[in-house]
Amino acid sequence: MITRRELGRAFDALRLSEVDLCIHSSMGSFGEQLERGPEDLVETLLARGCTIMVPTFSSCFLAESGGDETAVFHPECKDLSVEKMGILSSYILQAPGRIRGNHPLNSFAALGPHAEELVNGQTPRDVYDPFRQLCNRDGFVLLAGVSLDRATIVHYAEQLAGRRLFVRRARTAEGTIPAAVGGCSRGFNQLAPVLEPLRRAVAVGQSKWSCFRTQDMVAVCKETIQNNPYITHCGAPLCSRCSEAVKGGPPVDEFLWNS
Ligand SMILES: [Zn+2]
Repeated sequence: MITRRELGRAFDALRLSEVDLCIHSSMGSFGEQLERGPEDLVETLLARGCTIMVPTFSSCFLAESGGDETAVFHPECKDLSVEKMGILSSYILQAPGRIRGNHPLNSFAALGPHAEELVNGQTPRDVYDPFRQLCNRDGFVLLAGVSLDRATIVHYAEQLAGRRLFVRRARTAEGTIPAAVGGCSRGFNQLAPVLEPLRRAVAVGQSKWSCFRTQDMVAVCKETIQNNPYITHCGAPLCSRCSEAVKGGPPVDEFLWNS
């Protein structure tokens, strides 16, 4: 059993106190269970004055997904792709006082003293504003038992490197609208060597954690992508998203945004 005291020691080792951080996690990675699951993680961080941000993506609102055509996104709704997002994201989305960004497919939700500052600027077009805010606030990304292919912030670095984002259509309370999304992230583990000097590492039970200061991480990823666009390619010859991304992203289509 992993105690809150052990979690506290891990956050001490990572120097995470009174900071904002985005967490991508696999609760299954802990092996020995956390006594009260995600609640232990969340309460430990809130007690340290941290603000927690998590991805709360919801592919169920993709216009072309089929399924329940009457289900529409609204920041107050509690739908997410739980099998992909994990139980920490699900827990935060249910928590009283959480704030969810306004993006029907790739929203982020935050809990803690700076939740509004982090996610209130997210819009269907400005999908990665939460990472812009996280960088401005000198925040961190914590990968808890998952690898870099889960680090959505790399898509923000791709955007800063000059890549255009992909556009999907999604169902919202205002009707079916365009929404910007990132491409394929399966190649992001190839950034591990260039990010290694920035990585703070700790193990909690069997869960291996990596933590990065966002300003440094984004700067290194942006420069690496600009110098070697293929670094993010997943290697699948037929991956159309990666082949477009290395060429700078899909063609701009202002019509999509104005329709
Ligand atoms: Zn790919």
